[in-house]
This record gives sequence, structure tokens and C-alpha cells, in this order.
Amino acid sequence: MERVRQAMSAAGVDALLLSVGPDLPWLIGYQAMPMERLTMLVVRAGAAGDGSADLVIPAFEVPRVVDRPDVFSIRGWGETDDPVALVADLVGGASTVAIGDHTWSRFLVSLQQALPGADWLAGGTVTGPLRAVKEAAEVERLQAAASGVDRVATALQTGEIPLIGRTEAEVSAELSRRVLAEGHAKVNFAIVASGPNAASPHHHAGDRVIQPGEVVLCDFGGTTVEPEGQPGYCSDITRCVHTGPPPPEFAEAYGVLQEAQARAVDAAVVGAPAQSVDKVARDHLAQSDLDRWFLHRLGHGIGVEEHEDPYLVDGNDAPLEAGNAFSVEPGFYVEGRWGARVEDIVVATDDGPLALNRVTHDLMVVEA
Ligand code: ZN
Ligand code: ZN
Ligand code: ZN
Repeated sequence: MERVRQAMSAAGVDALLLSVGPDLPWLIGYQAMPMERLTMLVVRAGAAGDGSADLVIPAFEVPRVVDRPDVFSIRGWGETDDPVALVADLVGGASTVAIGDHTWSRFLVSLQQALPGADWLAGGTVTGPLRAVKEAAEVERLQAAASGVDRVATALQTGEIPLIGRTEAEVSAELSRRVLAEGHAKVNFAIVASGPNAASPHHHAGDRVIQPGEVVLCDFGGTTVEPEGQPGYCSDITRCVHTGPPPPEFAEAYGVLQEAQARAVDAAVVGAPAQSVDKVARDHLAQSDLDRWFLHRLGHGIGVEEHEDPYLVDGNDAPLEAGNAFSVEPGFYVEGRWGARVEDIVVATDDGPLALNRVTHDLMVVEA
């Protein structure tokens, strides 16, 4: 909360309003229920202390809040009260208001009408740069999330999860069950893309039956179980396996990809411009003319949200900071033929890049 207040004053923000979305659990450990009844934390600029932050919340939800009287006061509202008026009242004469990026427009529009004199900013202007720099406890949570999906990836790589003869959807469901069994409260995605479907980076697992002699790309992750009053953190990993020995041409291309990924991880040092890490992977793929099939940015930040700052993409010259956590996930996607991607979550630290996913990056051959 202190860091939020500092960022608010640096950005000239008088009030910060947080509702649904990841900012609220990140800050106070409470997830607003996504519904028409408004839950909103009002943080006013200035010194922390009594009365400087209020959680406006439906009265019957109050028992679900882990009370932090030192951090915020609770303002339960009844079924016939007007919560927008209550928030507007708490904001008072603030002239610059930042509002959480995920806030429903029905609340934003009502608040704009209730506060006609205010200037409005996206809440991410305040919270994004803060959330991008993880504290040690957050890195521990990300590590626990990564270790959970690593165990699922091991089951995939060792053939414990049968592939041949099953549909992508069946394998996706099994990956999801295993992600939940490994400390996650929810699965955010479980992409299973087999054979030519691997050429689509976000392929939706469907009813295609997995065949012998093809690549199976699996990209899965979730959000960990929330300890009381704390947010969950996200996992995200991609590994490819091959049902039976791969054709030499594919094995060779995969080897280049694997090396490109490893080089990019090594390049993710504190101070390196985010885009330079993307370039390392792209340049290595270019040596084998594979860069033209690398269709997306190298990576995204990760934390309480699957995709957040910083983005490792051409055009982002912001230097990596110690505590940044992000994916490094180059791929190649050849339409109608095949594709591959290798993805780890990496933390930039003062001691160098720390990869949280440790399972082998090799193209493992599975026979089942
Ligand atoms: Zn993606
Ligand atoms: Zn992924
Ligand atoms: Zn990712």
C-alpha cells in the first residue's frame, strides 16, 4: 500500500479505484465477485492510516473479507443503497482518478457521471509497474506454481499420460485435472495441439484424435490456491512431445528452437532491454530461416495475472528489473504442417536469470 501511494503521488493521482480483476487481490488479498453489485476499494492519496482507504462492498459479502483495519476500512452497503454514490462521496473532490483496468464499464460510466470534474486514468498506470517487480514472497509463490506444472509436464514427457488414440480434448481434460491436483485453484488454459494443429499458437483442444508419428504441443497453466487473505499466482509452461521418433527435419528445427529458447533465457539479465531478449531468440531462429515462422512476441510478464507487464516484444526498450517475472516462449508455426514452442517462466535477478521451470526441454519421444 505504501508503494501504491508513492506511485499515486508520482503520477499525480488523487484516488485509485479497484474492483474486479487482479489488482484488488494483489493489494489486499480479496477478489471482488464479478457481478452487478459493486465491490470497490477506494484508495486516497496522502499518508496511509485511518480512513485513507475504504472497501465498498455488498454488506452480505463482508464476512468473506479478511479484515485489515490498519490498511482499509470496510463500508458494507445494503440492497437498496447506491454504491456508486458511496464511492463518489469517498472520492470527494479528487481531480485525477485512476480506475482498475478490468472495471466494468457500467460502473466506470456511472462514476464518470457522478464525478463530472474528474480526469480519469487506467489503474494499470499506477499498479502495472509495481506488480511487474515481484517481492521475494511472490517469487516463492510463482516457483510453487511452476513446480506444480513441472510435475504435470513430467507425466506428459514420460508417457504417463497416454496420447495416441485419444482426442486433444481428452488429453486437455487430463492435464487440467492434474494441474488442479498440483496446488492450483483453477486452470487458465490447457492447449493440446497435435500434428498440423500445432501450427496454431492458441489452438483450442478439439476432437482430433492424436496419431502415431506426430508432434503434440501442450501449453498449460493455472492460478494457485489462495492462502487466506493472499492472492493466487499463475503458472504457464509449454512442452512438446513426439508420438514415436520425429522426422529428422522436425527434430532439427526443434533443436534450433530449443537453443533459441536457452539463449533467450541466458540473455534475460537485469538491465537488458526487454526487446533485446526477443531479438536473441529471433536472431538464432533466423540462422535456420525459422524466424519467419515465429509469429508472436517472445514473452509476457506473469504474476497474479497470466499476462501482465513486462512484455518481451520488439518496441519495448524498458530494461529488465530485478524481480521481473516473465515467460520465454519462442516457437515456429508452419501452417498445414507442424509447429513447436518451448516455454519457461523466468525471473530476472541480480544473480542472473532464474528459470522456474526445470523439466527437460528436449523433444521427448512417447510411445503410448
Ligand atoms: Zn499465449
Ligand atoms: Zn503458455
Ligand atoms: Zn505464456
